[in-house]
Amino acid sequence: MSCVKQSGEAESGLPGTDLEFNAYASMQPRVPGQTPVEARNGRRVKQAAVPPQGVYLPNNNVLTPQMRSPEYVQMSNAAAITLGIMPGKMHRCGCTRCLNLLLTYPEGCRANCAYCGLARHREAERDYADRNFIRVDWPAVPMQQVVDIVARDGERSPFHRMCISMITHPDSDADTVAVLKTWTAKVDPSTIPVSILSNPTTMQRDDVARLKDLGADIFTVALDAATPAIFDRTRGKGVQSPHKWQKYWEILLDARDIFGPQKFGAHIIVGMGETEHEVLSLVQQLVDLGGHSHLFSFFPEQGSLMDHLPSTPRDQWRRVQLARYLIDYAGVRVEQMSFDAEGRVTGYGLPQAELDDAVNQGIAFRTSGCPGKFRDDVSACDRPYGDSPPSNIASYPFQPNKKDLQKIRRQLRIPVVQG
Ligand code: SF4
Repeated sequence: MSCVKQSGEAESGLPGTDLEFNAYASMQPRVPGQTPVEARNGRRVKQAAVPPQGVYLPNNNVLTPQMRSPEYVQMSNAAAITLGIMPGKMHRCGCTRCLNLLLTYPEGCRANCAYCGLARHREAERDYADRNFIRVDWPAVPMQQVVDIVARDGERSPFHRMCISMITHPDSDADTVAVLKTWTAKVDPSTIPVSILSNPTTMQRDDVARLKDLGADIFTVALDAATPAIFDRTRGKGVQSPHKWQKYWEILLDARDIFGPQKFGAHIIVGMGETEHEVLSLVQQLVDLGGHSHLFSFFPEQGSLMDHLPSTPRDQWRRVQLARYLIDYAGVRVEQMSFDAEGRVTGYGLPQAELDDAVNQGIAFRTSGCPGKFRDDVSACDRPYGDSPPSNIASYPFQPNKKDLQKIRRQLRIPVVQG
């Protein structure tokens, strides 16, 4: 088990294929099937009621213990390796800088997002704690053990940030508060700041304010879809899922008011059918509000309702990555950029020499997310290989070297024109 994964990886994003972008018409999710009654709502796990015994490494061949937040949380393989609770090595990465904690329940997430490995429809085939999510397994660990290790390491901790990822569950709001309190009781949040990856569907404005009062530093909304139509198709009515675009925006704007400039943002998945112009207009909208965007390249997660669809072609992804970086950190506006009839970027609104500088710096092509301790435009959350295999990296979880940059330049296939 490692961050280096997985079977069933689509290669359509490789240079040389015919696809240059994932068009809306081709990115239709499968329809979710019916779940047998005996598998619904974590019934298998609750009936077996196997008591948990410390760290649980996902294993679909054993009875999953009955684990529940706030006592238990799950974390990515990368975080578990960095924390020292499981062995393993990551391709070209020594560690991750973000301790991503995911709430966990036998009932799992009650939403059904089409691109997500944690979605409700999977309860037929796999217990929640055994599901793959952004291409990796997520070991479950007692929260107290996590905090004890980080507190023990003190200044030597490799982590620059902790993030609590909410899911759609009736207890998610209260348990996020409980996990945050457990953390701040032993770890100074000014030493390792905390981000919240929220689930607006179950939240009210007061919930956002409470998390800020309790010491959370950054609040993000997993908008994921770049347009209302894609949102509805992939995480709303289209897949029998409860989310609503309008509600996500309501909580995003609450976060802007409560957390303030540079302290809120949205996750967006690129390549689910939006045009490059659409996603970059959204990036601009977030910057104009005072926030940031954190981008993922679409990857067909095994077992999800979109696992038959192509990953985002690398040329599309690189153009959006570069343009987003320029909007977020270099003061370029989307209106200064040029686009072709399909909405693809054809000009980045910068003189060639400045554009070359931005490409050569390489930061635009690293994983985007909440900042760590190195610099504001370098994310603590490096999510190693969360959106691609290591053989064809989408988001670089480290500084790209000269050879990587040569590859990136080849992937930026539409000729760069002067702004
Ligand atoms: S709400 Fe989040 S965790 Fe739940 S299915 Fe959707 S994307 Fe996955």
